[in-house]
Amino acid sequence: MASPAPLPPAEADPGARLVLAEHLLACESAVACARAVVEWLARRHGASTACVGPGDGAGASVCLASEGLTGAQQAALARAWDTQGSPLAGFRNRPGARWLAADAVEGAAMPGGFLAVPLGRSGAPAAALLVVGLPGPAVPEDVAWVASCAGPPLARQLASDARAPRRPEPDRLLRRVINAVSDPVLLTDTEGTLLFANARAEGLLVAGPDASPGRTRAVELNQRLFRETLAQGGTSVHRREVPLVDPLEGMDLLFELVTTPVLAPDGPSVVVSVLRNLTDLGRATQALGESYRQLRATEREARSERHRLDRVLDSVADPIILTDPAGGMVMMNDPAERLFAWPHEEGPGGESTLRRVRANDALFASFLANLLGPVNASVSRWKSQLTLDDPSTGAPVPMEAMANKVLGDGGELTGIVTVFHDRTEVLERARLLERVKEVSSELEARVQSATAELAEQNEKLRRQAIQLEQASAAKSQFLANMSHEFRTPLNAILGYTNMLLQGVSGEMTPPQRRNLTRIDSNGRHLLEVINEILDITRIEAGRMPLHLSDFGIPELLQEVMAEMDPIIARSKLTVDTRLDEGLPGVWSDRQKVKQIVLNLLSNALKFTHEGGVHVAAEYQNGTGTVAISVKDTGIGIDVSNQEKIFEDFQQVDSSPTRAYGGTGLGLSICRRLADMLGGRVSLQSAPGQGSTFTLHFPRRARRT
Ligand code: ADP
Repeated sequence: MASPAPLPPAEADPGARLVLAEHLLACESAVACARAVVEWLARRHGASTACVGPGDGAGASVCLASEGLTGAQQAALARAWDTQGSPLAGFRNRPGARWLAADAVEGAAMPGGFLAVPLGRSGAPAAALLVVGLPGPAVPEDVAWVASCAGPPLARQLASDARAPRRPEPDRLLRRVINAVSDPVLLTDTEGTLLFANARAEGLLVAGPDASPGRTRAVELNQRLFRETLAQGGTSVHRREVPLVDPLEGMDLLFELVTTPVLAPDGPSVVVSVLRNLTDLGRATQALGESYRQLRATEREARSERHRLDRVLDSVADPIILTDPAGGMVMMNDPAERLFAWPHEEGPGGESTLRRVRANDALFASFLANLLGPVNASVSRWKSQLTLDDPSTGAPVPMEAMANKVLGDGGELTGIVTVFHDRTEVLERARLLERVKEVSSELEARVQSATAELAEQNEKLRRQAIQLEQASAAKSQFLANMSHEFRTPLNAILGYTNMLLQGVSGEMTPPQRRNLTRIDSNGRHLLEVINEILDITRIEAGRMPLHLSDFGIPELLQEVMAEMDPIIARSKLTVDTRLDEGLPGVWSDRQKVKQIVLNLLSNALKFTHEGGVHVAAEYQNGTGTVAISVKDTGIGIDVSNQEKIFEDFQQVDSSPTRAYGGTGLGLSICRRLADMLGGRVSLQSAPGQGSTFTLHFPRRARRT
């Protein structure tokens, strides 16, 4: 392909004229000359420019090249050039440029008017007409120079084009169509000489005279690569890849070159080449690869998420099932599989296992139906109780099923998650609770009947207590009466006995005196017993009043000693008293204190054969009580009897052959009297080691 040297930029004046001149000389066709001129002027003056010359064949003139003019304007100019009498027709024989008004040519109005400059050899008729849209009649120097410089080569080329065998050149419509194709399309002869290139192909393979050196180099490289690739093709349709360079940005491009030889019946063969840009395809392939990689990564991630979800679901003890919007099972955990999945292998009882699984599935499907279908669109969850069958054993499994709809971002149903909860334990607990309630109400009934019985018993006891109280009162009354009845004659007996002993009735013989003394002694003993019984009955009947007074313990003990003196003397025991130094006076019932001490001392003397008796009194400040103790070195009392001897008529030895006399009422009276004083009687004793009886009573008694 022959191509003139590229035109330098228009500003590079004055070199620009030289370059244009060289370019014009190198042009191999009139069209190329015309295009170089038009482009050069348009760039330098920014004006709409056209070059009108003879068209193909014998027919009408055409616009060989133009810038800034519409197709209609170009056609109007060509027509005017050919039409006799038109403003342009005169330029064929008139040398020199002339300015025409804006609307001088019909259909080719140019704002501000235009210059018409005939082109051709000097002295010969104009071969072509240069039209430059400029305001005013002055012919710029550049236009005049171009006309003189381009005229001869253009005329020569036109003549040569007319002589040369007609090369097939697409007509204008076809040219426009091909120009509209987004892929580069070229028409070359079999040697690779460019006959036609559409705009996309020109961008890659053609550089004008004023193209930059970089673009020129890129275009030259592209032309070489294209020619080499084209040379590899045969006579049939051929496809191969050709790497080119983007002349504007210097980027590497990859094209697929499809060449089709066309045999013209009336001319030489030509080759139609179509270049398909694979660069974007490559990029798209790369992007597709990247997307695919991302997709795989996402897929892997989703798979691992799914595994994780599976593990989580399997770790849950409750059966969980995920179903699709149509109710088909999508996923289930192990516990759910045991109930709803059909066994892989048929084991023993496989038939019945299958039947139970089917029954479970059917139950689940009818449960899910409550959430599926347009009728239930507004229901988002459903809870119900189902009784499934354990597929392996056939045992009923009471379940609570809770199904929840899973909605997508747009609110559409994407699935349903159902969680089952085994209610066996709950039901068992409820059953036990019911049993506990039953037992509890039975128990309550029993307690009620026992309480009623108890109340009845209590009532009986209360009545008996009243009866006993009445009986006791009657007994006390009887004893009091009897004692009184006994004492009166007894006192008379003792009085007469005493008188007889004193010889009021004359001297008695010794045997008489001895017997009378025995009567006196037994009579006194009987009186003592009667007095004691009387005391007990009085206390029990509440007829023993308290007589409180101030008194001193030392004086009281002195009196006791004096009264007991004859007995002490007879006993041959040492009896001493010890009084606490700080012993205060007391406020209590003097007679009762004295009676208690007398009784204790009398017992000590009775049950002690050798040694002595020690009486002590002390005041215990902390408790505000007075303690009078009677300690002996007598026979002592076993622990087992120490409580018993304080009860009525109780003695350690109560046999008929007992060695000691007494009624067994003394200590009982002492305890009752001490109780009346707000005190008590304590005992410390051991057999053979003596005894210590102590009366504790408050220094200041409180009347009750
Ligand atoms: P009685 O002395 O009239 O039998 P008491 O009630 O005074 O009645 O005494 C009850 C019993 O307590 C006595 O029979 C005796 O067995 C025992 N007892 C009382 N005091 C003493 C004592 N100091 N030493 C040993 N035994 C005693």
